[in-house]
Amino acid sequence: MILDWEHWDTVAILATSVVAALATGFAFIKTRYHLHQSRRQQQVLSAVSHVNNNFLLYKDPRRRFGELLEVLKSLTGSPMGLISERMEHEDGTPYMRCYAITNLAWDEASRRLYEDNIDQGIDFNNLDNLFGQALTTGNVIIANHDTLKLRPGKAPKGHPEIESFIGIPLKFRGEVLGMFALANSPQEYSQEFVDWLSPLTNTITGILYAFRIERAQREASRRMLEALKETEEANQVKSDFLATMSHEIRTPLNAVVGMLDSLASTTALTPLQKDYIQTADNAADTLLSLINDVLDFSKIEAGQLTLEQKPVNLCEQVQMVMTLAASTPAAEGIDLYIDADPETPLEVIGDPVRLRQIMHNLIGNAVKFTHEGHVTASLAPIKDASNRQTGIRLSIEDTGIGIAASNQAIIFNAFRQADHSSTREYQGTGLGLAITRHLVDAMDGEVEVASHLGRGSRFTLNLPLQAHGSATLDSGLEALPLGQCKVLCVTNSHQLYENLYRLLSQHTECVDCHFKPLIEDDSAGSYNLLLVDDRRYPLDTQSLRTWIQQQSGQGEVIALSNRDLSELFIPVSVQIPHPVSALELINALTALYRPELMPPPSLPKAEPAAPVTPITDGLNILIAEDNPINHKMMQILMDRAGADYRICADGRQVLSALEEDPDYDVILMDVHMPHLDGFDTTRAIRRLDAPLNQIPIIAVTADALAGDREKCLEAGMNDYLAKPIRLTELQRVIARTLASRFIQEDMNNGVEPELTVVDFDPDRLTTDLGGVENAIVLINEFANSLHSELALIKQSMEQEDSDQASALAHRLKGSARSLQCQKLAHQLEVLEQQTRSAHFDPARLTLQQLEQDLPALELRLLHFCSQNLNRDF
Ligand code: ADP
Repeated sequence: MILDWEHWDTVAILATSVVAALATGFAFIKTRYHLHQSRRQQQVLSAVSHVNNNFLLYKDPRRRFGELLEVLKSLTGSPMGLISERMEHEDGTPYMRCYAITNLAWDEASRRLYEDNIDQGIDFNNLDNLFGQALTTGNVIIANHDTLKLRPGKAPKGHPEIESFIGIPLKFRGEVLGMFALANSPQEYSQEFVDWLSPLTNTITGILYAFRIERAQREASRRMLEALKETEEANQVKSDFLATMSHEIRTPLNAVVGMLDSLASTTALTPLQKDYIQTADNAADTLLSLINDVLDFSKIEAGQLTLEQKPVNLCEQVQMVMTLAASTPAAEGIDLYIDADPETPLEVIGDPVRLRQIMHNLIGNAVKFTHEGHVTASLAPIKDASNRQTGIRLSIEDTGIGIAASNQAIIFNAFRQADHSSTREYQGTGLGLAITRHLVDAMDGEVEVASHLGRGSRFTLNLPLQAHGSATLDSGLEALPLGQCKVLCVTNSHQLYENLYRLLSQHTECVDCHFKPLIEDDSAGSYNLLLVDDRRYPLDTQSLRTWIQQQSGQGEVIALSNRDLSELFIPVSVQIPHPVSALELINALTALYRPELMPPPSLPKAEPAAPVTPITDGLNILIAEDNPINHKMMQILMDRAGADYRICADGRQVLSALEEDPDYDVILMDVHMPHLDGFDTTRAIRRLDAPLNQIPIIAVTADALAGDREKCLEAGMNDYLAKPIRLTELQRVIARTLASRFIQEDMNNGVEPELTVVDFDPDRLTTDLGGVENAIVLINEFANSLHSELALIKQSMEQEDSDQASALAHRLKGSARSLQCQKLAHQLEVLEQQTRSAHFDPARLTLQQLEQDLPALELRLLHFCSQNLNRDF
């Protein structure tokens, strides 16, 4: 058909309409499409907000990821899906842990697998499949109906058919954290689908990342708690071990100390025997203080160490520790020297036990690690520019195995030894140097080591210890008339000679050494004092006699020897043992040249032992002790104490002994015993009828940890004594217990106490204080503060503040004792004990009685003052 122009108009109109209609249609379709798209976007966004809320709302992964999967499924119309995390085995092989998965169980086994594991996550190790691909490659995996046949791996038999699949990896900063997968949607999965879901994918990634962090934090805090628990357990084990060790070591040590104590004071002994006992006693003491210090180790580490401040004779301490070290088998074949600078102060202010412990550690090590050569302990003052003594330098030098430079820093750490293979050859705990460093730090001092492997070591301590008084070793020698003395040292030890020379050369005419034995020394006759080293050149009677004759009675011989020369009839003037100490030498010289300066001689040899204080004489004592060695020791102690006694091996025997004879004055109660221990026995006694339940009980135990004393008092014991025990200490505690009971009984009866102690001893006070004026000043001060102090005690008793009240009573007791007000001191002691154990009712009675007695005492004090000084005060 041919259209003319008029028709063109119509056509044009028509075409325009069609175009317009098409445009409108397109616009409509576009708008619909946009609407559809934006609705889909909206759906994704609301899903994002929903899953975010769920994440915050729920804590358990099953719930969190379960809800998430439901959202994904309904949003995408996919009936199946899973959300999982990429995990790794220890060897780095990846596997997949599913936190949410559609339950597709098709048989009993798959049902059980699902139910048993879904709470903690189901693990898939086989990653040779579609989800495995997404997880391991980090790529989106899409498999629709047509491509599905290409999928790797096969579903297990019975698994519902997978018709389409999409696996979307969850990636954060390039790392695949996990993936989610959806399957069997009626629509095909596509890249557009992936883009559309991407806000939700990002949110799920964030959730998985947060979940991982949460888990890492949980794991870290679980590990911390576990470590804390382990530390607590280890600490408990350590405390238990220390308590057991303390107890186990103290028990035999108790016997050693007790036997030595008895041996030293009951038997007639030669000086050498006494010396042996003294050394053994020192060893036991050192051992005991070591146990205490090991027990204190945690205290030291926790910075709770308290140091005593009292006069210490350092030369004596070094000598004791060196003598002890010399007696150990390790010291065989090596020389031990003490080199003291003559200007070393005789006494310094410090903590004797801790100083001795430091020396014991360093000297013990030096001897232990040295097989030939020598160990020298040197003492010297540290002085400032104006020659003022500011401290003490103690150094311990040895020619032993040495310490490699790389180990020199670690040996000060606890439980560290320079060479672990050495532990079998050299016994030790690796604690000594750590304790030493702690102690030196606590004294504000320094310790340093210089050592060469195979050549030896030197440990140097610089301690800011101040001199007590002005006496030095030099001043001890100055008092002796040695100006005419020509000294010959008979030794071949250069070191010994140097030490002697340093000490004596300033005070004598000369100090020589020819490094040959006496018998070979033709010039020996020109000297009038011989110092003969019996260890290097053994003394022989003949050469000595010849020399003595040459001197026509004007020569003196000091033997440096550990043999009993008197038994060998070797004629020497004095004998001093190795290692030679300056103090011993000064004593020997004093005995020879100024005997009048010597302390009075000790008791003659055959003199019986000095009588012990009779406080325990005639007492009837019941003893509970299960250890047979300690039985023996108790027998010896009780015989020496003059007491009647019966020993029981356990608590049951104690109770039956009391049934048989209720007239015991006191019970000494061991704590750990078979059948019935000391605590239960005490409780059982306290439940008996009066007066048996009142019997004083003293714990005598090897439990010496903090709190053990309190445990005993809580169980109803009156006092406490830690093993090892010495008779004097035991007597003191018995006296204290009986005295406090005595006072208390009398007070309870309302009877005026008839103490055997004098209530005020003015003569002793005057003598103690060196004059009546001092006594008056002190009394005045005491009288002025007495009432206010008592008021404070009363106040703390009213507040039932046991610590405060007992501390105040303790302080006032000290003042009363210094003023020789013995009765008041006794009453305050009772008050101290009663308040300490929170027995406030009897304490009130004690205080009441004390206040009743006070006017009479004050009158006596006033009388004393007015008699001696013609003025009121
Ligand atoms: P212990 O001696 O009980 O092992 P210490 O703490 O006293 O513990 O010493 C730690 C380690 O330091 C020793 O095991 C040893 O290896 C080394 N050491 C200490 N003193 C010396 C010394 N004088 N010579 C050689 N090695 C030493």
